[in-house]
Amino acid sequence: MHKHKICLLLLICLYPGLLPAQNTVKPKVLIITTGGTIASVTDSSSIEGPELIRAVPQLLKYADIEVEEFSNIGSSRMTPDLWLKLVQRIGILLEESPDTKCIVITHGTDTMEETAFFLNLTHTRNTPIVLVGSMRTSDEISADGPANLLNAVRVGISEEARDKGVMVVMNDNISAARDLRKAHNRRVDAFQATDRGYLGFVDPGKVTFYQSPSKSHTVNSEFNVYALDSLPPVDIVQDFAGFDPDILDYFINRPNQGLVVSSFAGGRVSKGVAPIIKLPVEHKPIVVSSSIKGGRIMGSNPPGTPIIVANDLSANKARILLMLALTKTTDIAQIQTYFHRY
Ligand code: ASP
Repeated sequence: MHKHKICLLLLICLYPGLLPAQNTVKPKVLIITTGGTIASVTDSSSIEGPELIRAVPQLLKYADIEVEEFSNIGSSRMTPDLWLKLVQRIGILLEESPDTKCIVITHGTDTMEETAFFLNLTHTRNTPIVLVGSMRTSDEISADGPANLLNAVRVGISEEARDKGVMVVMNDNISAARDLRKAHNRRVDAFQATDRGYLGFVDPGKVTFYQSPSKSHTVNSEFNVYALDSLPPVDIVQDFAGFDPDILDYFINRPNQGLVVSSFAGGRVSKGVAPIIKLPVEHKPIVVSSSIKGGRIMGSNPPGTPIIVANDLSANKARILLMLALTKTTDIAQIQTYFHRY
């Protein structure tokens, strides 16, 4: 990991209009870069963290920027080990610079909602964290990265950003980490809020919040991973018409500590998955999540079974919550309470 300070002098020489009014104290913003399309050009070569930030000199109107390159990977290569390193690094950086107003993380969009949700449950301070990416590479016409990055900083430094948990800013929308899904392969409006809606919006002159996340997060989270170097492994199995029960046996017998079933609407499962209801409560936990974007699975853990109901969490987010839950307990009823609370 290399920490770079943006060369303010050079920027000011290049863009004298950016020179702030004398005595203006600007908020300190730390931008952590991880890679993704926002840090890429079409030929797939990648842009280093400091260069990515230099491409948006307007940032200096709003904040004193520091940048740290955490990684430079496509986010399909993100892992739970990297999540742990990331949240632990954030903890150290905030201890070193407690006056940091917010942290903005540039990230690929493939797993952005997963990283955001993990941080939402493990970053235990109220310094806002905003994740941002882009759907177009930096050399495409109408690249969305620069505007998204500027918007992310504007959201992070706004007073209302405090206590909103970890957020994602894409395409002028502010989303709670828990409550968004990537819903398009290519378009700049790829990220959509779930039924719970956007937290707010970014307009040219103003950042406006309309609501706060209702589920517990960050300062109210009971998951503390600052001393961990790995998370309990949890697999996801996708249900489908004609699911072969051998697949379930395979996943149950793997050396994981829990399983998430991505089921049909309402938590309904195929005949091949149905035997999970007969497993004893002592079995490793099995979370049932619906693969449908809208609505939720109603209800709670059926008594005497190892089944936990994911409510409206996607399978990928349910896996993250189950991994964190398993750092504290294997009690099924207790884990179900986490799925109601977070
Ligand atoms: N390949 C990218 C990633 O790192 C996709 C993106 O950023 O939009 O997830």
